[in-house]
Amino acid sequence: MDAEQLRENAHKMVDVIAEYYKNIESFPVLSQVEPGYLQKLIPDSAPVQPESLHTVLLDVETKILPGVTHWQSPNFFAYFPINGSIAGFLGEMLSAGINMMGPGGGVIQGTASEAVLVVLVAARDRILREIGKDALGKLVVYGSDQTHSCFQKACQIVGIHPQNLRLLRTENYNEYALSPESLDDAISHDIASGLIPFFLCATVGTTSSTAVDPLHALGKIIKRYRIWFHVDAAYAGSACICPEYRHHLNGIEEADSFNMNCHKWFLTNFDCSALWIKDRNTLIQSLSTNPEYLKNKASQGRTVIDYKDWEIPLGRRFRSLKLWMVLRLYGVENLQSYIRNHIKLAQQFEDLVAQDTRFEIVATRTFSLVCFRLLPPNKNEEYANKLNSDLLDAVNSSGKIFISHTVLSGNYILRFVVGAPLTEERHIVAAWKLFQEASSSLLENS
Ligand code: PLP
Repeated sequence: MDAEQLRENAHKMVDVIAEYYKNIESFPVLSQVEPGYLQKLIPDSAPVQPESLHTVLLDVETKILPGVTHWQSPNFFAYFPINGSIAGFLGEMLSAGINMMGPGGGVIQGTASEAVLVVLVAARDRILREIGKDALGKLVVYGSDQTHSCFQKACQIVGIHPQNLRLLRTENYNEYALSPESLDDAISHDIASGLIPFFLCATVGTTSSTAVDPLHALGKIIKRYRIWFHVDAAYAGSACICPEYRHHLNGIEEADSFNMNCHKWFLTNFDCSALWIKDRNTLIQSLSTNPEYLKNKASQGRTVIDYKDWEIPLGRRFRSLKLWMVLRLYGVENLQSYIRNHIKLAQQFEDLVAQDTRFEIVATRTFSLVCFRLLPPNKNEEYANKLNSDLLDAVNSSGKIFISHTVLSGNYILRFVVGAPLTEERHIVAAWKLFQEASSSLLENS
C-alpha cells in the first residue's frame, strides 16, 4: 500500500461520507427499489483492469445508494437502531488501517446471536460432562414467547430437541415479562417427566415491546436447580449506563452470562456485541482447539488470553478499539445524556399518541420504544390488524420515515423506536403528523 495514495483516496472517501451525512434526510429512508434491481445495473463479471475510485464512487451514488435503507437517517424508527458515531467511525477506520487480528479486550462478539450461541454451547457441554453425552435429547431450555429468535436458532445449532424448547407464555398484565411462577412450574413439570432443565435465556428489553424479565426472582429459581442463567440485554443494556435505569439489571449477580449490543444504542459502529461470562473456563472447554500451526510461546505458556477459544471464528476484528474510542471521546456523561435524550423524545411521541383518541398505547414504554396502534372504527377488532398494517405501509412507502411492527396478544402493533443518533424533536413531530394524516385518510376510506 502506497501511503500517499492512501491519504489521497481516504480524504476523498471521508468527503463522500461527510456529504452523505449532510444530505441523509434527502433520501427516502426505506429503499424504494424492487429486489434484484441492482443485477440489471452492474456487469456480470469483475473488471479485468482496475477502475478509478471516482468511477466506483459514481456507481455507489447512482446505483447502490438508491437501493439502501438508511439506518442512520434521523427518520429511522424501525426495529432497534444500529448506532454509528464519529468516534465509532474513527475507531473502525483505525482498526481497518492497522488491519491486524485483535488482542482482545473483553469478549466482544459480532452479534447477540453469536453471544447466545456460544454460551449455550458452554452450558450444554457443562451439563453433558456431568451426566453423559447420551442425555442430549433430554436437555430442556427456557425463555419466554418474547425471547429473541436468535435463541431458537442457537438451540437448533446446538442440537436441543425442538420439543424441549420452552418459550413460556407471557401476558399483557405483566407487560410481556417472563413470570417466575410459570418458569418454576415448567421446570418442576419437566423434572417430573424425566427431562433435564439446563438453560434459561432471560431478556432485559425484549424485541417486541422492551419488556424486562424479573432477573432477581428468576435468578432465585434458577439457583435451586443449577441451571445456566443467561441475560440478553442486546438493546436495553445501553440504557443501564444511566443510574435511573440500572435497577433493570437488579439480580444480574446470579447470571452466568450477559450480553449487550454496543452497536445498537451505544454509539459504536456495527458490529460490537459485548459478552460477559462468569466462568470463562466453561466456554474455553467447549471451544478450544490447539493445532500445531497456531502454537507459540505465549499461547503455550498461557501468558495471554486466546480469544479464539471464546468464539466461533479464529480471526477476530479489533472491535474493542472503536468501543474504547467511543468511551473516551464521549465520556460517561455524554453517553448518559444521549440515552436520556432518546428516551425523552420517545416520551414526547408517546404523549402525542396518547392525546389522539383514535390511537391506543398497547404496552408501557420503558425505554425508547413506543408500541401503539390505530383503533378500528366502531371497535371492529377484526379489521384492526389490516388497518394498522395498511397504516404501516402508508407511512413507510412515503419514504419519509421507516417503522416496523410486531404482534402482541394477537394484535398487529406499530413499533416506533427512537435511537438514531441524528434524531431531533422536529423529526418526532413530523413523524407524528405523518401518522395522523395517513390515519385520517385510511379511516375516511374505510
Ligand atoms: N436479542 C434481542 C433482545 C434483540 O432485540 C436482538 C435484535 O434486535 C437480538 C438479540 C439479535 O441481535 P443480533 O443482530 O446482534 O444478533
